[in-house]
Amino acid sequence: MSEKAALDFLNANHERFLEELKEFLRIPSVSTTEEHKADVQAAAEWVAANLRKIGAKNVQIFPTKRHPVVYGEIAAAKSAPTVLVYGHYDVQPPDPEEKWETPPFEPSIRGERLYARGASDMKGQVMASLKAAEAVANSGSPVNIKFIIEGEEEIGSPDLAPFIAEHKELLVADVCLNPDAGMLAPDLPTITYGLRGLAYFELYVYGPTHDLHSGVYGGVVHNPAQAIAELIAGMHDKDGRITLPGFYDKVLPLSEEERAALADLPFDPEKFYLEQTGVPKLWGEPEYTPIERTGARPTLEINGLYSGYIGKGAKTVIPSYAMAKISCRLVPKQDPAEVAEQLRAYLEANAPDTIRWELKVMDGAPASIVNLDQPAVKALAKAMEQTWGRGPVYRREGGSIPVVGQMQEILGLESVLTGFGLPDSLIHAPNENLHLPTWRKGMEALVRFFYRFAEG
Ligand SMILES: [Zn+2]
Repeated sequence: MSEKAALDFLNANHERFLEELKEFLRIPSVSTTEEHKADVQAAAEWVAANLRKIGAKNVQIFPTKRHPVVYGEIAAAKSAPTVLVYGHYDVQPPDPEEKWETPPFEPSIRGERLYARGASDMKGQVMASLKAAEAVANSGSPVNIKFIIEGEEEIGSPDLAPFIAEHKELLVADVCLNPDAGMLAPDLPTITYGLRGLAYFELYVYGPTHDLHSGVYGGVVHNPAQAIAELIAGMHDKDGRITLPGFYDKVLPLSEEERAALADLPFDPEKFYLEQTGVPKLWGEPEYTPIERTGARPTLEINGLYSGYIGKGAKTVIPSYAMAKISCRLVPKQDPAEVAEQLRAYLEANAPDTIRWELKVMDGAPASIVNLDQPAVKALAKAMEQTWGRGPVYRREGGSIPVVGQMQEILGLESVLTGFGLPDSLIHAPNENLHLPTWRKGMEALVRFFYRFAEG
């Protein structure tokens, strides 16, 4: 067992790893639409083949109701601890495709970055884990490593919890390594310890039974597009606070220590968010900092709006209905089902009797918090320090990763969350990319993590 041999192996094989990643990225494994079902299956088979190639045993592709889960394990001495590595091989759709500088499924390198859908979220991270495992396996792994790589993360992992519950024995481990989070900057290794939950809805507002001529009926019917705009506008007050009744009742206040820890950053967050987004001015609750607002406060967002005529040119229509996709990011103690009731109560109190409405409850997942005192967090922090020359920053991330809660609930397993994508990696957006020098360092850090964790 030699850490140095494993790190040398990474260096000697880096070009090959990059080629393998490109191969993986060429598979358009979009899980959100039926038309890519065969591609998602192909990506599962690709992962299984790669697991076999790195020397994993007991490699299996488990079918689920939708997309399969891939499993494989690298064995060390019986007494060695076990790391369960979680990943997903599915990706978001590439739309809008015309905004990509190079096609989303033809990986292309420009400067220090590799551009492709899934490069950062999360095929690059899956590969970093597989290749770090390959490197340690090559010189006799100090830890047992189990891989569970699913194909439904981008649709909310609907079949993962039942899978985990059915395979408790197979998944026994000491910790779950989840590299589906990211870093704050290339020189700032990051451990994520809090994830917000999610509650997702579709709101339908119905007016007339069919589209109407606005010259004949304008002035006598309440336009559903206008009515939905009025309802949505009322969901925040002028300071950006959410007005749903009871929405903040269970939200815990941030402690002074936590506010201090979140403020301890070597950059100016205000400037950071302005640069990342290109907006003229930031928005949101004035009594919280931008970092607090994106990680530790709940939000409500309109993710999509549809009504009326949206083609070229003019059409003077009063649409028969309007629809809004609405989602809330939740913090610990908030329950997605309770938020659905709060939204319903808001609509009951505020919807006018000139329209009918319907609320469809879609995905939901509670928030989760990772225990920072666990040995795996300490091992990863040490590994990061040895790799970047500085210890990690700890952050609460705005996103939601339901599997973290599922691992806790079903397996009693804590997760350690990291990843090597950057804030400008454009995940879920056109021109998604992976910063290659950071990816390479990430692999080194994971090799060191396996050794530090084995040392206990
Ligand atoms: Zn992801």
